[in-house]
Amino acid sequence: MHIARLVPGMETSDGAGVRLTRMIGTPQVDMIDPFLMLDRFDNEDPGAYIGGFPEHPHRGFETVTIMLDGKMRHRDSTGGEGVIGPGDVQWMTAGRGIIHSEMPEQIEGRMRGFQLWVNLPAADKMKAPGYQDITVDTIPVVEEDGVRVHVVAGSYGDAAGPAKSHTPIRLLRIEMEPNATWSFNPEAGRNSFFCLYEGSVSGSDNLGSDKQAQAPSLAVLAGTGETRLAAGPEGAALFLGEGTPIGEPVARYGPFVMNSRDELIQAFQDFESGRFGN
Ligand code: FE
Repeated sequence: MHIARLVPGMETSDGAGVRLTRMIGTPQVDMIDPFLMLDRFDNEDPGAYIGGFPEHPHRGFETVTIMLDGKMRHRDSTGGEGVIGPGDVQWMTAGRGIIHSEMPEQIEGRMRGFQLWVNLPAADKMKAPGYQDITVDTIPVVEEDGVRVHVVAGSYGDAAGPAKSHTPIRLLRIEMEPNATWSFNPEAGRNSFFCLYEGSVSGSDNLGSDKQAQAPSLAVLAGTGETRLAAGPEGAALFLGEGTPIGEPVARYGPFVMNSRDELIQAFQDFESGRFGN
C-alpha cells in the first residue's frame, strides 16, 4: 500500500452559501468506490457557514458528518433529530428518500468537520431511511505510541466502531504526536484514502520513495499490504476511510445517487410529487 496521489481539493460552496473544500467528488478525484464525496469545512467567519443546509432531499446513499469544532443540528423527515458537537458523528441513511436540514447551532466561532457520502448497493438503495446519532463518548479510542485512533466505523485492533454501515467500510480518525509513526493495513480488495487536516505526514509512493503530505490534502492510497506514516515535527491529524468497492454503475445528480439515468428521473418525480420521507 502506498500514496498514489495527493490532491489539495477544490474550493466550492453548497447549501445556503456554506464554504467548503471538496476532496472527493471533483474533476481530480471523481470517486473512490464506495466513497462518492468528501467535503471538508473549516470556517471561522460565521458568514461562511451561518446559512447552513436548509431542507433538501437525498436518495440512494448514506451521509456521514464528523464534527471537529462547532455544533450542527440535524432534523429529518423520519423524525431523526440531533445536535452534534466536537467528535460527534451523524450517520444518515437516505435509502429510498429522506428530507433533512443541517443547520449551525451557533452564531460565532469555528465550524470544522467533514461530510462523507457512502454509496449504497442497488439492493439497498430503496430501503427505509434511517438516522444514527453517534456521540463522541461511544466512539472507542485506541491509544498507541504517540497515536490516538478513534474508531468510528468498522474495527481496529480489539475495538469496533459504533456506526452501523450498510456497505462494508472502516472510518478512523487518527491523531499523531510530533514525529510519531503509525502503520495501517487495509483489508485486501478495499479502496482507501486519508484526508490530512492538521500538520504533515510522510509515507511512501509506488516506488518506495518518501512522499510528504501537508494539511489540508487528500491522499489516494493504492496497492496492498501495510503502509507506514510518519508525522512531521508539528504532529498530524487525519481522517481515514477504507471500503469494499460496490462496482456498480453510478448515476448521480445533485442530492440523488442511483444506478441509472431512469432511476434519477424517477427520484426527481417521486420527490416532486411528495413521495419522499413518507
Ligand atoms: Fe444533506
